[in-house]
Amino acid sequence: MKRALITGISGQDGSYLAEYLLSLNYQVYGLVRREPRTIRWLETIRDSVELIYGDLRDATSLEVAFRKAWPDEVYNLAGQVFVPTSWERPAETFDINVGGLARLLQIVAQEKADTRVYQASSSEMYGNVDGFCNEQTPFKPASPYGTSKMAAHGLVQVYRERGMFVVGGILFNHESPRRGPEMVTRKITLAAAQWAKGDRSKLKLGNLQARRDWGFAGDYVRAMHAMLQQPVPKDYVIGTGESHSVAEFVTGVLSELQQIGAKRNMIRSIEEYVEVDSRLVRPNEIHNLRADARLAREELSWKPTVDFRGLVKLMIESDLARIKELPSRSVTGSTAHAAVST
Ligand code: GDP
Repeated sequence: MKRALITGISGQDGSYLAEYLLSLNYQVYGLVRREPRTIRWLETIRDSVELIYGDLRDATSLEVAFRKAWPDEVYNLAGQVFVPTSWERPAETFDINVGGLARLLQIVAQEKADTRVYQASSSEMYGNVDGFCNEQTPFKPASPYGTSKMAAHGLVQVYRERGMFVVGGILFNHESPRRGPEMVTRKITLAAAQWAKGDRSKLKLGNLQARRDWGFAGDYVRAMHAMLQQPVPKDYVIGTGESHSVAEFVTGVLSELQQIGAKRNMIRSIEEYVEVDSRLVRPNEIHNLRADARLAREELSWKPTVDFRGLVKLMIESDLARIKELPSRSVTGSTAHAAVST
């Protein structure tokens, strides 16, 4: 039985990965900072995984966790992932995203250097590039978050050169019903579930023209695992190869609502539902991101199973089902964080 240690197990990716590894008969250990709130997706696997308290900023706690899990594979998925927060707290973002990996790698090197390590690298490392990004595309990040991921990715490469099996999965945006409510896709589907109930308050968004390569997180965790099973450690780009704008995501959600009969009246325009709030427009915006994931297709046999339309459907259906269980309240304004996430 293989043993895996996942940092960030209570998050979107960590929970999907834990489920996947359990299905492959792994013994799964998860690092958590504190007793997780009642997170429904974690509850379903709670008895099958072992949670260990620890923090990426605290080397001693990581060492204790590592010795307890004694893993064959480590998946470093914990981190500070929200771009605006990285502008508010750049040093903390670095301490978690770069320092955390540095602490982990040092422990692995000292304790059990044949442990294979997956690092969650990110398409935010590319910044504004024209066209598709692959493993050779140079990095030019546009935020402290992107810069922190680039620095961590540099650590991946030097430890690999030193002989350890460490890989960086350069994952493009990946979403799901478990996505945090501050990210734009989930913010939209949460608001849309309220619209379906008759709430007419407008959702405040930033740049509607920004484009992302959005895939389904459940697909992406398979790629993480596949990377660690390769004969040679290598970084891989993971994405769908298609990009869509924030406006298209909203339109997709609205047409889905209409299709499933949750919204019977004709939807004329997204302006009825959305207004641009200039405070949410990012000064250092990345305008378009698109993955060229050919290497992963060829060497990992990885391909996504959920397309853009399927992702929109999955997310809105889930939030519609959930909203039935929640008291009626607006999630469209500053309360967006309050009603959700667990
Ligand atoms: P990111 O790509 O990791 O920054 O993921 P996000 O989901 O936070 O943002 C994706 C894109 O949506 C970015 O280009 C944002 O500028 C854009 N966007 C537009 N309005 C909003 C908003 O209200 N919230 C967020 N989070 N992003 C928004």
